[in-house]
Amino acid sequence: MTDHEYLKNLRIPTKEDPIRILVSACLTGVMCGVDGTNYGDYPSVLKLLRYENVELIRFCPEDFSFGTPREMCDIHGGHGLDVLNGKAKVLTESGVDWTEGMIRASEKMLEIAQKEKVELAVMMDISAACGSQVIYDGNRLVEDKKYQIGMGVCGAQLTRAGFKVISQRDFAALEILYSRIDPIHEINSDAKDHNESDWYLGYFK
Ligand code: SF4
Repeated sequence: MTDHEYLKNLRIPTKEDPIRILVSACLTGVMCGVDGTNYGDYPSVLKLLRYENVELIRFCPEDFSFGTPREMCDIHGGHGLDVLNGKAKVLTESGVDWTEGMIRASEKMLEIAQKEKVELAVMMDISAACGSQVIYDGNRLVEDKKYQIGMGVCGAQLTRAGFKVISQRDFAALEILYSRIDPIHEINSDAKDHNESDWYLGYFK
């Protein structure tokens, strides 16, 4: 089932029985980024905080394993699923191997998703942990940094277990989500998901 089909079939949540959404904590303003910030505001997700029929379960996998502030890390030699399958590594900007800690963080995130019976995850794309569509291909701090299509380690862990993961840049998917949450929300049919954006189509042509 595509993300859009899944979202269109989500139940209509109520105040008494809210929809449970797992979110990358930084997307809701938690200062858990590598530099101790929340990387700025993401209105497409912050809006979720307004609804009484939404229960947000916030988690920062990198903070769980490595604390905040911390080094930047990226996946080398593959994407998140490759890391879970022992075929790629997570290295910090100074070359420290964080693979084991990142896998542990992804297992914790999955445990939370299962325990809280979450119905959707909305996660920060591009992150080596939380990415769901695009991540860096190796160290992002080099001059000729590269992107690749693929999930971060936690995105891959959740998806592999059957959870639906969308990103803060999947604006079309978020429009559908808001239409399920908010009876007066009118879907903006011009909204695009990350993989339909001009940047994505230009870069991965
Ligand atoms: S690991 Fe995920 S939740 Fe934590 S700062 Fe990075 S993107 Fe945000």
